[in-house]
Amino acid sequence: MKRLEIPETPYAGGLTRRSAHRLLALLAGALALPTSMVKVVWAKQPEGKFQQIADGIFAHHGLHELMNSDNHGDIANTGFIIGEESVAVIDTGGSFHTGTALRNAVRAATAKPIRYVINTHMHPDHVLGNAAFTPDQPRFVSHAKMARALAARGTRYLEAAKEAMGEEAFRGTEIVLPTEGVREPTTLDLGGRKLKLTPKPTAHTDNDLIIVDEKTQTAFVGDLIFSGHIPTLDGSILGWVQVLKEVDKQPPQLIVPGHGPASMGWTAAYGPMLRYLDTVIEDVRKIIAEGGTINDAIKTAGPQEAPRWALFDEFHQRNVTAAFAELEWE
Ligand SMILES: [Zn+2]
Repeated sequence: MKRLEIPETPYAGGLTRRSAHRLLALLAGALALPTSMVKVVWAKQPEGKFQQIADGIFAHHGLHELMNSDNHGDIANTGFIIGEESVAVIDTGGSFHTGTALRNAVRAATAKPIRYVINTHMHPDHVLGNAAFTPDQPRFVSHAKMARALAARGTRYLEAAKEAMGEEAFRGTEIVLPTEGVREPTTLDLGGRKLKLTPKPTAHTDNDLIIVDEKTQTAFVGDLIFSGHIPTLDGSILGWVQVLKEVDKQPPQLIVPGHGPASMGWTAAYGPMLRYLDTVIEDVRKIIAEGGTINDAIKTAGPQEAPRWALFDEFHQRNVTAAFAELEWE
């Protein structure tokens, strides 16, 4: 496989940030703190902030907002993992702009080649930054079902993103389809560091992929976990509960949720997720059993969850609608 040589610090300001990072790492060493405890901020723009959450693993907290011209579609978590020989990027944000900020953050942290761009699933806020990485000629990796799903929806995603954020913030954004689909658990080697990719059955979508760094047991779980931001259902609510319960049998040390803090423990994320999904399932089943309609469900299912989630009004009714369509055929 061809290796790309990328010059060190190809953009202005990189050296300063790199030096700052080294200094912080040294300080952490002197104080006997793990470097992961030192928060590293790479750039001034919100979409440029990455935090070292574990040894060689960086993650970014996307905003709990809908896409707009101010946030450039920077509304989902993204990150990257540095091995001895190469780098894997995981999710790229909602525009060419967010992808570029991510690429700059990688380049500020290391000159190693970006060999993999992995998408956790097809949603636009996770894949529309892919085009920023085409100069690196990486392998674009995803769940085997993502290519077809994204190809079918890509035009609509692009139109909606452009409409939401405007011409200026949208500039350069295009669909980059995966070059490789993962059908069964697969290992990628970054040099002295292996990533295990596990495709999941239909849950949040029909193409959810979990990426686990074997060295630190840190898992990028994509939108299988939302924290703070209301979960959004685009697959199967029953399947989603099942996948979460299965992951809970061997929970990762640390996770990067698709929406929520840059990193968190599994238990703190799992409880609220399961409570929300179970509440929707239980309420919708009851309404169906009583002969209620989809409109009854939209009006009355799960209102107690409202104060617990950001963007509840934007997504809850859609979740109930999707759950009703699934559960009425049980
Ligand atoms: Zn999603």
